[in-house]
Amino acid sequence: MKQTPDAPHSVYGVEKWGKGLIEVTEQGEIGLRNPMAPDADAISLPGILRDLDERGIKAPMILRVSSYLESEITQINESFAEAINRSGYLGSYRGVFPIKVNQQAQVVDRIVEFGKKYNFGLEAGSKPELVIALAHRLATEALIVCNGVKDAEFIQLAILSRKLGFNTVVVLESPKEADTVIEVYGELGIKPLLGVRVKLTNQISGKWEESSGDRSAFGMNTDQLVAVIDKLKNADLLDCLKLQHSHLGSQVQDVNDVRRAVGEACRYYSELVREGVPLSHLDLGGGMGVDYTGEKKAAENSINYSVSEYCSNVVETVAYAMDEAGISHPTLVTESGRAVVATSSMLIFNVLESTLYDAPDSPEVEPEDHHMVSDLAAVHGYISTERLQECWNDATFYRNELRALFRRGYVDLRQMARAERIYLSLIARLKALAASDELETDLGDQLEKVADIYHCNFSLFQSLPDAWAIGQLHPIVPLQMLNTDPNRRAVLSDITCDSDGKIDRFILADGVSPSLPVHSLPEDEEYYMGVFFVGAYQETLGDLHNLFGDTNAVTIDLRPDGGFDLLHEQEGDTISQVLAAVEFDPADCVAAFRKMVDEAISTGTLKAKDRKTLMNAYRDSINGYTYYE
Ligand SMILES: *Cc1c(COP(=O)(O)O)cnc(C)c1O
Repeated sequence: MKQTPDAPHSVYGVEKWGKGLIEVTEQGEIGLRNPMAPDADAISLPGILRDLDERGIKAPMILRVSSYLESEITQINESFAEAINRSGYLGSYRGVFPIKVNQQAQVVDRIVEFGKKYNFGLEAGSKPELVIALAHRLATEALIVCNGVKDAEFIQLAILSRKLGFNTVVVLESPKEADTVIEVYGELGIKPLLGVRVKLTNQISGKWEESSGDRSAFGMNTDQLVAVIDKLKNADLLDCLKLQHSHLGSQVQDVNDVRRAVGEACRYYSELVREGVPLSHLDLGGGMGVDYTGEKKAAENSINYSVSEYCSNVVETVAYAMDEAGISHPTLVTESGRAVVATSSMLIFNVLESTLYDAPDSPEVEPEDHHMVSDLAAVHGYISTERLQECWNDATFYRNELRALFRRGYVDLRQMARAERIYLSLIARLKALAASDELETDLGDQLEKVADIYHCNFSLFQSLPDAWAIGQLHPIVPLQMLNTDPNRRAVLSDITCDSDGKIDRFILADGVSPSLPVHSLPEDEEYYMGVFFVGAYQETLGDLHNLFGDTNAVTIDLRPDGGFDLLHEQEGDTISQVLAAVEFDPADCVAAFRKMVDEAISTGTLKAKDRKTLMNAYRDSINGYTYYE
């Protein structure tokens, strides 16, 4: 625990991770800055929530900011264009968005719209994703890149789509897929556009290390690659092989890993060209990271480069390698997913109640109390800044002894309750003294473990699955009261009945902390929390644990005049929808309940006039939101 410098909100480090898009307003609220109108004031996020509330849209919700999506698409495309200009690169850039990173129609539709002027395309890793891609009118030069395991049906649809003018590339993942392509070509007589996925041997450091290098599940080694070329040559299809693909894994931390991998990809490219393959496109996959913590370093949840640095590194590495090999510059393709969509969505929920690990007063010791109760109470007499650790040790010792005595029947329930309350009041004083003193000892860590629990209206499993599954960190910050000192520390607990449903690692200005500084909950207002940069992967990976369904999702556009437009509202799942997802028929459930009500009336345990109340209560629930209302 460090002293809070300057403004009360500086502890959260919003300036560090907010990318200039999220900031604290003068009123002490989180504000959203419009990247397309840099001179406009930030728009208050609690203000947006009040407005949505008036329209009947409530938290928990996913808030999608269309302007952020637009600015990310613009930035990637402009950065590649600048790097290409600056280094005299003779090819162009044709990015694609990998649909798996966020398949929501509201997101994909807007990416296609904003990407049109850049010939930005889509990447499909499965049949359903190809079906989505083919429902969009892309720019004439845009690509659809098909990766992943493909059967004949997938390949057939990809090839047929060329008749409609789509530039659909079938990326071969294995020699077997080459056989399937040759078969389908035999049936259709339409030449495909083909790619090959090569497996790079360079290992990329970070969480997705396994998706790069020899043991990666995708892509072909040199032996398989040669086999595919020979097969295509024999089938008279080598002239269709235009694209070479490789994917480095996600959230690449170190830009030098990008350089090394791109260098290796170029070696394959030039060797394939030497083999007579008429390649024209070099696809470097995804992997561009997001600086979740704002640390700007090659570390978990951070990256040591900017978008424009990533783009110049790619362009310069390819230019150099191709010039060395005497090969003309290929069209560059990347499949950045996370970097395109992460920023554009935030999860917003209200805090329902708090479990406070302290007590404001210490009860009097009663004459019949065990002597340990008075020993515990005596700690109050010597608490001081100098003796913090000693007081913690003593208080915890006596409390634990008393618990043991309670278990064996030597201390009764009321004595134990007094002891717990004395203990908590000691903890409150220790926390207050520790907060005003920079702690070098491990007492700081011990006090973190008795942080408050704030119970929040969301499901970690539905809305932040990566936080649970792979320890992903997202910035989390209260949206209001930020001009006031956060006077408490808390961990956040969700509303599932799963002890894993909690967040106890937080990004703060001075590093990752096991608790979040928060304010005492206001009496008559909602206290909202925002979780930022959740646009990539979270929505579809989320599940129905405890049958908490999709939250409400709202898409807004920030206006230059400081207002916002509501572009779309998608109501969250109702209880009947999640019941149907696990194959309960809601109508059957209503009928079964009604039958029990009627039987209870027949046997006289329920009055006929109560039937309506019971049936309405059941029906209201089944038609309602799965979250706390
Ligand atoms: C997942 C995936 C991507 C997206 O990766 P990001 O790290 O989100 O940019 C791109 N290409 C392929 C083949 C993928 O599997």
